[in-house]
Order: sequence, then C-alpha cells, then structure tokens
Amino acid sequence: MKFREWNLDENLLKGIEEAGYSQCMPVQEETLDKTLKNIDVLVQSQTGSGKTAAFIVSVFQLFLAENAKRSKAIAIVPTRELAVQIEEEAELLGKYLNFKIASFYGGVGYEKQEKLLQEGVDIIVGTPGRLIDLNQSKKLDFHAIDILIIDEADRLFDMGFLPDIRKMLKKMKPKDERHTMLFSATLNSGVRQVAWEYMNNPADITINPETLTVDGITQELYHVGRTEKINLLIGLLRKANPRNALIFTNTKQAAFEVSHRLEINGFKSKYIIGDLPQAKRLKTIDDMKSGKIPVLVATDVAARGLHIDDLELVVNYDIPEDCENYVHRIGRTARAGKTGRAISLACERYVYGLEAIENFIDMKIPISWADDSLFAADSSKGKYFNLEKSKLRDPADWSGESHAAKRAVKKEQPARTAEPEKRKQPKRETADNKPYDKQYDKKYDKPYDKQDDKPYDKPQKEERKERKDFKKVKTAKQKPMRKSSLEKRLQYYSEKYGENFSLPEQNGSGQGEKKSVIGRIKSLFKKKPEV
Ligand code: AMP
Repeated sequence: MKFREWNLDENLLKGIEEAGYSQCMPVQEETLDKTLKNIDVLVQSQTGSGKTAAFIVSVFQLFLAENAKRSKAIAIVPTRELAVQIEEEAELLGKYLNFKIASFYGGVGYEKQEKLLQEGVDIIVGTPGRLIDLNQSKKLDFHAIDILIIDEADRLFDMGFLPDIRKMLKKMKPKDERHTMLFSATLNSGVRQVAWEYMNNPADITINPETLTVDGITQELYHVGRTEKINLLIGLLRKANPRNALIFTNTKQAAFEVSHRLEINGFKSKYIIGDLPQAKRLKTIDDMKSGKIPVLVATDVAARGLHIDDLELVVNYDIPEDCENYVHRIGRTARAGKTGRAISLACERYVYGLEAIENFIDMKIPISWADDSLFAADSSKGKYFNLEKSKLRDPADWSGESHAAKRAVKKEQPARTAEPEKRKQPKRETADNKPYDKQYDKKYDKPYDKQDDKPYDKPQKEERKERKDFKKVKTAKQKPMRKSSLEKRLQYYSEKYGENFSLPEQNGSGQGEKKSVIGRIKSLFKKKPEV
C-alpha cells in the first residue's frame, strides 16, 4: 500500500515523499490502519522494520485530523541515540508541517532543554530519567500528553526503567483519554502486563522481519542440574573448541556471571546486556565480529540485530521462555544457507519452556547424554558475581562515560600512599618513669613531673574516700526519710487505740525505729482481731 492511499494531509505527504518513502512497510500499513481510527496499538517489530515512521506519521496525522483532539505527544525511548534518531526522522517527515519536535536525555545541561519546553514542544522524545527530572522541576506536564509512544519497550524494561515508566504513566491522563502506542521487539510477559494495565484495548500487531529457520542447524539438548550447568558448558566449549560462540542466558545477571566464570576458566569472553551503555555494547559486538572475543554471552534483548558472519556455535545456557526466541537465537548460526550447531542446556528452572519450543519448531530436539568426562572443573567455584554490586563499584562503566574520562577523574585524585601514616601520640615524660595515668593528670591538671612526689595510688584513694563521704552527706540531705503517710497512720492508730505510736526522733537511717513501731502495731492487731 502507498502512503498516498491513506488520505493523509498534503504537507505530510510532501515530507514523506521527499524522505524517499512511497510504499508503506508492513508495520506502517498495519499500524496506520489502527491508529488513524484512534485505536491503541501493541506492535511487535524489530529495529529496521520502519516502526519509527509508523508512529511519527500516525502522530502527525492525528494532530492534523479534522476536529483533532490531540496536540501533544511523548515518545519514551531507552537510549539517547534512539531519541536523536527519532527526532531526526520526525524532522524529516514533518518538514512541511509546523510542529516542534525535540529530544530530551541525560548527560547534557538542563537549561537548553527547559527553555525548549517553555517555548512549547509538540512531540517530546526522551529517555525516562531526564523526562522525570523535567517533570519534577515542573517544566514538563505529563498530564497534558494526548499521545503516548513507548518505543523498544522490552529494552526499556530490561534496562530497569519499568518503575520510572509506571511513575510517568500514573501522572498522565487515564488510558481511555489518551492514545497509546507500544513498540517492542519481543512481547514478553512484562511488556504484556504493562500493555494490559495502561493501554485501552490495544490491537495486537506482529511483524516478523526475517523468517528464521532451524533447517541446516544441528541441534542438541542436554538435561543438566542447575548447579552443574557451568561445568558442562566449560566441558562442551573445550571439546568443541569453536572459532566463535554466542551463549544466551535469560537474565542479565546470568549473562554477567557466566561471562566472568568463563573468563576465569581461560576463555576470552565478554557479555552484552540491555543496560550496558550503547558505546560499550557496540564495541563488544565489534570485537566479537572481528574475532578478538571468541565467546560472547548475551541476553535476547541485547543481542537484537546482532549479525555475526560464520557463527559456529550457539549455546542456550538457559532455555528461552519465549519459544520464538529459540528460533531467533539458533537461527544466527545458519545465516545465508550456512550450517551451524546449537546446544541447549535444560535445567530444572527453564525446562518448562521446552515443550512450547518443540511444538513451535514442530520437532523434538535430539537429546545428547553427557558422561562425567564432559563436566569440567570450574576454577571460579566459590566466587560470586553480582551485577548490581558491580554497577556500584564501577559506576563510570555503567553511566556511559568513556574510559578516558574515567582515567582523568582518577588522575585528579591525590595519589594514595601505600599505608596511611599512623597518628603520632605526643610523648609524655614522667619524673620517675612511671606509666602515664590519665586520671592523675586530669585531677591535678598539670604534667606529672610538676606534681609533688606522692606515691602513685594515694590521690586515687583519697579521691574515692572524698567521693564516698560526699555521697553520704548528699543522700542524707536530699533523701530524708519519708514520714508523712506513716505519721498519718500512726496518728490514726494512736487515736483509735489510745496508745502513743509516735515515731521517735530519727537517728541515722531511722529504719530500726520504724520497724519497731510497725511491730508494735502488728501486735496490737493480733490483740484486737476485729480491726
Ligand atoms: P526503523 O525501523 O524505524 O528503525 O527504520 C528503518 C529504516 O527504514 C530507517 O532508516 C528509515 O529511514 C527507513 N524507512 C522507514 N520507512 C520506510 C519506507 N516506507 N520506505 C523506505 N524506507 C523506509
């Protein structure tokens, strides 16, 4: 279908045609069919499928439609590069329109971005952190947004932006008052959950960019316990000794850990995960392609769009939870009619994905049995690798700063000496070489050698006695025996029984006298039981 057939605004069509697009790509055709009818869309499509133009053309046309209710759009994207790319494409397609487009991302000053927002932006493209900052400083009102686009949703979630996205969505208009479009390469359960919560009955659109096939790939499946997986992986890699191997894990923590363990066991290995800075990820992929790194450990999201010529071996260290991912993963070894090998390790945690995969590829993956000799010793045993802690330890690596910048910061810091200098204690001199005594010194408030030559313990003894005497006087003064209530009772008994029960004058603590009076009263009670 051609863009002309969509009854789009003439100035928009002019921009589209000048960009060189005349024929719609499948994702554009299917998306426009829904969005122009004001229906939310949940689109599964890869980078390169033409998804950017799909939502940009939709937004422009919704802005320009007769009785248009929409006038402000936001696109939330995972990286700065993607934000810039989308801004450029929107500028290109909207060349003959009068809409302001701007991108907002971290790592640059706020002033320019805040000024842009004050002047008014129609299409805001940005990364979650910066958008939240701008909202918190009251420069960006999420509630004014009419059209929301979440691009590369799976990557956003893989990078840990889900809480940020929820925060933003809560401040926006209710889902039935805004138009929402979500694009993602995989529609995993996390993405579907967000779509269910924050989208208004979206239309499901799936675009498969390339038909991957398992034909020509030698598949093997090993059933193995979770704790022995790393031993089997090392053994298999040693035995196969491939020129290059791509190892897939289901989580980024596992990718981080497996790569480090392989490194310790003598393999030149690196990992790529969604939240690695783009530059670092690209460098690692380049190193893999050029053969510098023979073993690459990756998550599905990070390995998206990764094409390695002559990839010899793919290992599913974890069985993928999404059956299509199995084909995407192993299909990388058999590109352009070449043959390849794929090994899958089924452990008790991820074995449940196996049935769906076998149904999807319509075949049983042949099972191989590993004998004991295939389980290699793991030199990294007992070591722990925590991805989150590593981010805290080495923040520059995770903030996208270059290593040169990191080194420059290190240089600015004063050099640390091997051992911190010990604090010197001032030397105290004593007249008779007796040990220095703090109390003694405190009491007289002058150095030991200036004091009279008294025996060492005498002042302490004296002081103790003084303190004791003082205590006695103090208690005698401050705590006189409480007589009042007792006196009252004695007066009552004296009147009642005609005996004198008054308390004698107090000597010392007065306890003895008090006891004797109470004894007398008690004996009186014994005599007169009617009381
Ligand atoms: P994307 O999937 O948005 O990353 O874009 C993929 C590439 O396809 C971009 O370089 C676009 O310029 C290009 N493209 C998008 N739509 C069309 C189209 N209808 N015809 C030709 N090229 C297109």
